[in-house]
Parts: sequence; structure tokens; C-alpha cells
Amino acid sequence: MKVQKVIKCKVVHLTRVKRELLTQEYENLQKFLQGDNSVKLYSANKQQAKRYYKKVKPDKEYPLSIRKDLIKVERKNTKIAKYWARIPVAGRRGGIWVAIKPHRDIPEDVEICESKLFRRNGEFYLHLTIQREIGFVKVETSDCVLYIPPSFTVNERTVVIAIDIGEANPIASVELWGFGMQRRNVKFLGKEIRAIRTHYNWVRKSVGRKKIKHAVKWIKQLGNKESRKVADVLHKATRSIVDRAIELKQQGFEPIIVFGDLKNVRKPHIKGKPRCRKNNRKVHTMPSFKVKHMLLYKALWAGIPVAIVNEAWTSKQCWRCGSTNTVVRKRMFKCKDCGLEYNRDLNGSVNIGNRLLGYMLRSRADVNQPETPPVYSVLVSDSACEGRSHRL
Ligand SMILES: [Zn+2]
Repeated sequence: MKVQKVIKCKVVHLTRVKRELLTQEYENLQKFLQGDNSVKLYSANKQQAKRYYKKVKPDKEYPLSIRKDLIKVERKNTKIAKYWARIPVAGRRGGIWVAIKPHRDIPEDVEICESKLFRRNGEFYLHLTIQREIGFVKVETSDCVLYIPPSFTVNERTVVIAIDIGEANPIASVELWGFGMQRRNVKFLGKEIRAIRTHYNWVRKSVGRKKIKHAVKWIKQLGNKESRKVADVLHKATRSIVDRAIELKQQGFEPIIVFGDLKNVRKPHIKGKPRCRKNNRKVHTMPSFKVKHMLLYKALWAGIPVAIVNEAWTSKQCWRCGSTNTVVRKRMFKCKDCGLEYNRDLNGSVNIGNRLLGYMLRSRADVNQPETPPVYSVLVSDSACEGRSHRL
């Protein structure tokens, strides 16, 4: 299985000639997209444009898409920049080399894929897509999706990092050790989001009330700022979870990250009738969707296995006795059968982790005898991973 990632780079220290060439190529692309076929444009860039932009809006700038085989990135460690990229432009054989400043180091063992050149406020940015083979397979069953190495088994070194994604505690994580017998390292992350949301709701309201000119535009901008702040919190939280998994892996354990997904949540609610655009955006901007997406790609990129299990009933069920005769009030969870009192979100995480262990091990009863652990290995033929590259 291949995983992809985008590295954002700023094009820096452009000489006058190179800036002119880039600007020309970029502006000619815009003219070409608006229907002017006579402009000078590198032929492959022209083909890419035809392939990608079927619908073109007037007054919108589109990035220049650069084909995989034409872009080249080298680590040169010159005085002005560590990295250089070759960009194909019309009128220059072999393109031009420009200095780039990536937001993080570009790993050595990656393949450079199709990338995009943007222009914002007169500056050029290159979004490099990099790809890596991680040797995982994707296994889909009726109840879960696993991204694991082909020979993955649950054993005494397995640490399940179980995550529940909720409202008050956006991310509640717990580590399950020893076939789910021990629970360690409880974390509640992303609590700041609530304060950010409340703050912006208040600002929006007061802007709306004052009937300011351009209020709509203003509120829209506020919304963008809000979602950027929320995304930042989520990035840091998911990063800390993945870093912990990397740490465990380095210590010789076998971590696997698991979170729940209500199947069908992203599918249209009426069969055959897609959700309207507004609702669709709602789903895709939901913090839970973002968290899952971030966790998946960050973990896989770092070579950490990921599992997604069906989370139905995980918040209602008691993790200790499995009863659904429970009371969930505010943040507390209480089981009427065994008397367990627990943090509500944490109960969800433990259930999600146990559910994965339940799939991987034959039954929960066996877990009580960890001396002779029954090991169920998921063996998948290579054909399962063919053509399944996960786009991130
Ligand atoms: Zn119970």
C-alpha cells in the first residue's frame, strides 16, 4: 500500500528572469483555461490542464499541475536553499531550477508525484506530493477496516491505542495493554476547541447585531479563522497520539491505533439521493471527520497500523460487563448491572479498543487466559493490495 502526503514549499530567491518565466507560464495557463489556445505554454502543462480542469470559472486562478516525470527535486544544500526543484516552462529546455523552502524536511526515500504550483499575493508556492510504499494491506470486513502489515497478529507486545471522538472531549484516548487487560495512559485532547467555538459564536453574534456594512463577508472570514484554529488544535492532538505510537514502536512494542466510525455516516441518507452540498460540507468539516482523516494519514505515513471499527453502541455499552442497561448523564457513565462508574468518553474508547481486540482474537473469553493467548492472524494475499493506494 502506498501513502501520499503533501509538503508545502515556498519558492524563494527567484531571479528576475526566473520570476518572469514562472509568471508567464502561470498567467498563460490562466488564459489557456479561459479558452485562449494561442498562448505559449509547455506542452505537458497544457495536457495536464486539459485533463484536470473540465469546468473553469471566470475570475478564478488555477494552479499549474506538474506531471510526475517532469518535476525533479534535489537536495543541494547551497548557500541560499537546501532544496531545489525543477519546473518545466515553455521556451526553456529542461525547465528552470528554483530554490524552495519546504515547511519540513523532505524525506530521502520517497517518490515525488504530481505536484502543483500556486500563486498567492505575488509569491509562488509549490505543493509537492510525495509517496511512500509502507508494505501494508487494507483489509475490509463487514465490521471493520484494517490497515496493517500482511502478517499482523495480536500478541503480548500489542498496544491498542483506542480513541473516542466526541463533543466535549474531542479526543479521548486510552492504551490497552496485555490483550485489553490493562488500561494505561489516559488522555483527553482538544478541549480548547470548545472555547474557540464559543468565542467565535459570540463574535459572530455581536457582528450580526450591529448591522455593520459587509457583515456577511466579515462573518465568513471569521469562520475561516475559526476553522483554521480548530484544525491547528486537531493537528497537534493527532500528532501527539502518533508520536506516542512511534515511541512505543521504538521500544519494541506493536502499537495499533483504533477509532470508531459509524458506517453510513458519510453515505447519503436516502439511497440514491445524495446529500445536498451544504450538508455534505457539514459532514466533511465536522471535527470528527477531520480527526479521523488526520489520524489515518499521520499514522500510516509513520508506519503505524490503523483500524477503524463500527462504533455503534460503544457509548451506551458498559466496557466491563457489556451490559447496555446503563445511564449516561453529562460526562458520567454508570452501569446498572455491575455498578461501574466511568468517564463517558473513556468508556467509549475502551469499548472501541475491545471491539478491535474482539475481532482480532477469537472471542473475549480467551482474553481471560493471557498465558496461552489465542492468536488470530489476518493473512491476506498480495492481490488485496494491488491498485489500492490510499490517497491522502
Ligand atoms: Zn457493567
